[in-house]
Amino acid sequence: MTSKQEQLDILNKYWEENCECELRKTATQAVFGNGNAKSEIVFIGEAPGKNEDKEGIPFVGAAGKFLNEMLLSIGKKREDIYITNIVKYRPPNNRDPELKEKEDCNEWLINELKIISPKLIVFLGRHSMTRFFPKEKISDIHGKLLIKTTQEFGEQAFLPLYHPAAALYNGGMRETLVKDFKKIPKALEKIDQTK
Ligand code: URA
Repeated sequence: MTSKQEQLDILNKYWEENCECELRKTATQAVFGNGNAKSEIVFIGEAPGKNEDKEGIPFVGAAGKFLNEMLLSIGKKREDIYITNIVKYRPPNNRDPELKEKEDCNEWLINELKIISPKLIVFLGRHSMTRFFPKEKISDIHGKLLIKTTQEFGEQAFLPLYHPAAALYNGGMRETLVKDFKKIPKALEKIDQTK
């Protein structure tokens, strides 16, 4: 049987050749999701930044270092989890990805998530949150475990968090994110109990 990582490799190869996202024209390369394909947690960020665009790996810059620290606080390493972005190409000057760009990369993301089939999807910031909860505000639902029946995955658990880049230099938001992050192990336990 084909492993999850082999399925992801096939998926990434297909979309690298076929994605119609305009950001391809200005980005250095596609930044694929990265980490443990068998992880029970998937983190979804916004879009690659300058460092990610250069290295071809998500969350390798300052926000990534902060994320690694928070992972350690719950006894996990980067190799334990899987991390990806809503769009796979860096927007010029790190601007927010536009709706069309998010739509163009959507099928890639959904198929990626279907392959991994995680117990918990953690949103890093509002861009990934609005893909599944378009009417919500991150300031209202951060740190709350949400179980929703989705068209794509059936019943799925989600945990919205502030984006580490936004929280990095904002004392209050940083404190909230660090606190919310520590809810991940309990959220996993709770999901098990609801099954
Ligand atoms: N911010 C993101 O949302 N994704 C990255 O890969 C890096 C920074």
